[in-house]
Amino acid sequence: MMKISEIDWKWKSGLSVRPKTNYIVLHHAAAIACSPYQIDSWHKANGWSGIGYHYFVRKDGSIYRGRPEWATGAHASGKNHESIGVCAEGNYDVEYIMPDSQKDAIKELLRYLKLKYPNTTVKGHKHVGTTGCPGKYYPLSEMMEFYRNVIANESEELNVTQYEELKKEINTLKSRVGYFNYIDDNMNEAYKPTIEKLVSAGILQGNEKGELMLTTDMMRILTILDRAGVF
Ligand SMILES: [Zn+2]
Repeated sequence: MMKISEIDWKWKSGLSVRPKTNYIVLHHAAAIACSPYQIDSWHKANGWSGIGYHYFVRKDGSIYRGRPEWATGAHASGKNHESIGVCAEGNYDVEYIMPDSQKDAIKELLRYLKLKYPNTTVKGHKHVGTTGCPGKYYPLSEMMEFYRNVIANESEELNVTQYEELKKEINTLKSRVGYFNYIDDNMNEAYKPTIEKLVSAGILQGNEKGELMLTTDMMRILTILDRAGVF
């Protein structure tokens, strides 16, 4: 189980509610070793209410909550109203390798966020601002790919009810198979193996244009069923 350490922050001024959540923005602290308390004091010195990130992950893998998740952060100018900020301890402009403990903890946190906010995408701070953050050696593409491949409704184990419900849904789907996308770059990588398998087994057939006529929800259900060994 992921553990988030809570700190009783003293905010200098009131926090505002973030109106929407479209992005998870990844940062590094640009400091080889630092605590969440230091970040808070640095951000207060900027004139901010307090620590601007929503999460801070240390090299040992411990995860701290900064701003409450509902609040607007102070970490990515222009995107704060629509993003959650996740900062890693370290300076990944000069440190070549992120420790596995930290990398695994960030992934665990990302999985948790994807399940809560399935329609978000991960960006590096440098993708949304003029900065080198999170540093050229931060495993940014690895994190982005990991996030894309988390299936929003993924369950580690299906219980009997879920399984029966999914089977019912799949029968409804079978009678509707015939729109959607081709198997192309737009298809979520996480769904491709299942869809390709079902196409080659003749379970899924495209229309005369080769379109598969599946929605994202359908692909997700098919993938979950596939992982549960249904096909
Ligand atoms: Zn940053």
